[in-house]
Amino acid sequence: MKPMGPIPPHFSGEDDMLLIGGCGAASLADEAGDTPLFVYDMGIVEAQVRSLRQAMPDALAIHYAMKANPHPPLLARMAGLVDGFDVASGGELALALEAGMDPAHISFAGPGKRDDELTATIHAGATLNLESEGEARRALVIGRRLGIAPKLAIRVNPDFDLKGSGMRMGGGAKPFGVDADRAAALARMVIEAGAEWRGWHIFAGSQALDPHAIIEMQAATIALAARLSEEVGAAPPLVNLGGGFGLAYFPGDRRLDIRPIGTALASVLESRADILRGSSFAIELGRWLVGEAGVYLTRVIDVKQSMGETFVVVDGGLHHQLAASGNFGTVVRRNYPIAVANRFGIEPAQEAVTVVGCLCTPIDRLGDKVALPPVAEGDLIAIFLAGAYGASASPNAFLGHPLPRQLLIG
Ligand SMILES: *Cc1c(COP(=O)(O)O)cnc(C)c1O
Repeated sequence: MKPMGPIPPHFSGEDDMLLIGGCGAASLADEAGDTPLFVYDMGIVEAQVRSLRQAMPDALAIHYAMKANPHPPLLARMAGLVDGFDVASGGELALALEAGMDPAHISFAGPGKRDDELTATIHAGATLNLESEGEARRALVIGRRLGIAPKLAIRVNPDFDLKGSGMRMGGGAKPFGVDADRAAALARMVIEAGAEWRGWHIFAGSQALDPHAIIEMQAATIALAARLSEEVGAAPPLVNLGGGFGLAYFPGDRRLDIRPIGTALASVLESRADILRGSSFAIELGRWLVGEAGVYLTRVIDVKQSMGETFVVVDGGLHHQLAASGNFGTVVRRNYPIAVANRFGIEPAQEAVTVVGCLCTPIDRLGDKVALPPVAEGDLIAIFLAGAYGASASPNAFLGHPLPRQLLIG
């Protein structure tokens, strides 16, 4: 038997049925029409946002990094919940605008922005987080052609990273942002060229579960923003502190306690350098806001034996939920929290089972030697933490199965 990650605390069962947002998982599958499907509970997202606002200093803006989950009905609700969207492509920019987010609160970060994406962003009045000097030059040319002063922030490749983070985005040579020692010169250049300089974007990493690592990173980010601003000789309108808040996906992981982060951030902001006195501050979170709100539900097609092992074969797989198969940015495959939705809370069987998807590849494993109650054909398997980097981050076209259904509730 291999352990699995902890089921998030929002879930319980009634009459052996997993409840999501107060509804039974089986009736949600009926409502959606078929399996496999993702269910997103807005009630959980709202609770996350509420607890974040409670913990963080009042003045801190909360932005949603929408690549975590760009499902349009969810975006429309997010637009009313958070203070801004961070987009990573022209396609996401279009979705953000359709969702009703004010372009003044949209920023676009990401390497390799094409001219048509720069044009659409400047035209909409959203901010470009510049990734290089070359991108700055192209944005200025396009701004001149459109007769619009582009809103430009400098994305800085910081000279530190987020300790213990799952995905390093700063520290060392990176395709993201401009190295810290060249960032002030670039800011001066865009100001002199007549652009509207929006400040700094400093994103040092992702998926951290240690509050102290995030506290340290935020303090270093604010210190770096102050140092760079002094070099520029101008106060930045906005300092985007990045994110990094992680989720407890795996065995032994503990949910991030955000309260000490808010307390520490409040005191760092209080004693910030004079040049940052008039600046606004934002954090941008993806997975932490929406990840726990999603459950991937997939139906058991077959239960079979091979050489003494039991394989539970489901109608979903890594083409919908790549991350749970261990093939999205993890080195060692570990089990996401998984349950039999229609036998929720029932004692596990003696023998562990392996849950595999319907793709003809050995990497399509959703649960490896997990302890589940006895499983039968037609049962519903629930995989938790499916609200971020699921449907849109998985190779949907691989093997030609249908797209997953997505159901927003609450
Ligand atoms: C992906 C991304 C995020 C969100 O990361 P999460 O780990 O989902 O919180 C935030 N900022 C930038 C610039 C990103 O690219």
